[in-house]
Amino acid sequence: MERVRTGAQPSPPRETPVVTEGGWAEVQRLLDGRTRHIRLEGELAQLFRERSARQAAKIIRAWMVWVVLLDVVTLTLNLLLLPSQTATAMFLPASLLLPAAISTAIFFSKPRGPRQQFSVLLGGILVILLSVALVGVASGGEFYERHLTIMLFVAVTAIVIFPVPLTLATMVGVGAIFIYLIFQLRNPMIGPGSAIAGSLFFAAGIMATLVARRTAIILAQKTFLLELRDRKRLADLKDANGRLERLARTDPLTGVANRRSMMATLEAHWKNGPGGLEAAMLMCDVDDFKRLNDSLGHAEGDRCLVKVAGIIESSLRNDNDQVARFGGEEFLIFLPSCDATTALSLAETIRQRVEAASFPNPASRAAPVVTLSIGVATLPPDRAPKSVDDLQREADAALYAAKREGRNRTRVCTHGSSANQT
Ligand code: GH3
Ligand code: MG
Ligand code: MG
Repeated sequence: MERVRTGAQPSPPRETPVVTEGGWAEVQRLLDGRTRHIRLEGELAQLFRERSARQAAKIIRAWMVWVVLLDVVTLTLNLLLLPSQTATAMFLPASLLLPAAISTAIFFSKPRGPRQQFSVLLGGILVILLSVALVGVASGGEFYERHLTIMLFVAVTAIVIFPVPLTLATMVGVGAIFIYLIFQLRNPMIGPGSAIAGSLFFAAGIMATLVARRTAIILAQKTFLLELRDRKRLADLKDANGRLERLARTDPLTGVANRRSMMATLEAHWKNGPGGLEAAMLMCDVDDFKRLNDSLGHAEGDRCLVKVAGIIESSLRNDNDQVARFGGEEFLIFLPSCDATTALSLAETIRQRVEAASFPNPASRAAPVVTLSIGVATLPPDRAPKSVDDLQREADAALYAAKREGRNRTRVCTHGSSANQT
């Protein structure tokens, strides 16, 4: 029963991500379970990646730009403040960082595949960490251990800030500890025991950071799932509201608009151009319908109403014309922007089509088949404005005249009196 036509159509609901039935079940299952057990897989993981990819790329680019700026500032300060021999020794390893950070930032300025992103980001960060560590190794002395610690700090900021998969964050952490351990073992100022103890200490710190990263990932995924569920609920609600609204406007038997819907259409028409817009109204009534019910049964009467409604609807000119079941066997047709000649011609077409359909009504006084009497009222653009009630009264009066004059005919009401026999 989707046949109601009311002119203006509702706007489509805001787009909800395309998720399969299984996907929605998985969303619900994950949200019903414990937060720490949330793991996105398959289509949900893919959707999450797509949703967070742009934001992650922005964060990565910003971090890379800051690393480059800090490197340039540090190099300049070193050149100004440190002995020239130390500053020169730092120059080459510190310069390694620039192409790595800049090319990674450029790479993340466009959407890329997850695997490519994974390897480019890991490679970029490891080169940056190595560059920072080598600055200390090349300058030696107090700078050796200090730069290894700075390198770990850089790794920790990357782990904390980048919204990337835990595997990548873990590899960055492991890489940083590995670089630290290798260079500390080669540090002439400390023994191997101290190097290993320091590495273990920092490894514990990195572990704690990774645990925090994991929690952040899970919370981001939960937020994503909640958002998905809200969007789906909203879409379902809009859908249900739309269906309810259509049902409230529809006549359940015939599927055309009901009286309430027609009144809303008429009100809207009069509101937009109070009585001034050209329009016509046809009041159609099945002849001797009571006799049809009495002779063939109520069920046959119902079937007849459905068929008549179908004929009327298929005879309308466009989506702006509207038919409503106005009473038991009465149909009201509203024709906006329609002159008297067109209205009369349309009424006559409908009447002839219903008669030609030859649905039996053996006891009818008009013909042995189902027929319609139609009253036509028009709202000419150049006349004094009429109210909806005036127009309806005129259509009723014309219908009454059609009935009185023998049924199965069309009458037009001009200026309050029925005339123009067809
Ligand atoms: P006229 O030609 O003067 O219009 O005569 P009529 O018999 O069509 O008009 P009347 O008002 O005397 O009877 C209308 C009948 O329509 C009476 C009622 O039982 C029947 N009716 C109303 N609603 C329905 C419906 O939903 N289904 C069926 N089958 N009959 C209905
Ligand atoms: Mg009637
Ligand atoms: Mg009737």
